[in-house]
Amino acid sequence: MAEQRIITVDGVTLTVVIERKAVKNINARLRDTTLSVSAPNAVDGTALDEAIITLARRLLQRIHKRRVNHEEDALALVRQVVTRFPSPPAIDHAEFTLTEARWGSYSVATRTVRLNAVLLRMPRWVLEAVVAHEIAHAIHPDHSPAFWRLLRSVCPDTDRAQTFLNAVTWMARTWRDLPPVERALLTGMYDEDNQT
Ligand SMILES: [Zn+2]
Repeated sequence: MAEQRIITVDGVTLTVVIERKAVKNINARLRDTTLSVSAPNAVDGTALDEAIITLARRLLQRIHKRRVNHEEDALALVRQVVTRFPSPPAIDHAEFTLTEARWGSYSVATRTVRLNAVLLRMPRWVLEAVVAHEIAHAIHPDHSPAFWRLLRSVCPDTDRAQTFLNAVTWMARTWRDLPPVERALLTGMYDEDNQT
């Protein structure tokens, strides 16, 4: 008999339907907000609970990644920024990812630019600065003085963008530890009238 429960993963509420079967592995399928799970009879509750969260997170990420890459064509963006380079390198692939622990990366082997999906929520010049940074790695794989010279010449916003991203990282790490009154103070500051 199928067991049913409600879980919330990364802010999304899902109905989980679990069926115990003579299967080897735990499998999951996501349709809208219903996660159908089949699990071997022998798997104990705790292991199953953990597996469900992991599988749900992976499936939700896959859906979100598809949505984000539909929202913006990463390769078109790269092709646009690459024209700023005096001798534009050939980039074959580009995508927004949700598994990147960095803001971006460049693979020499596959000539692929990967961009952190959160960049899409930031000001355009920040996103473009990261794109320019990764493209510059197609020419200089390191962070040598030549790398920075090239990058600053094609992207004058380089240092400003770095400062912006450092502040985002700092805030993301600090947010949870801020006293609620100070968090409220920060979220109330969005109002144009409050700015001095
Ligand atoms: Zn770099």
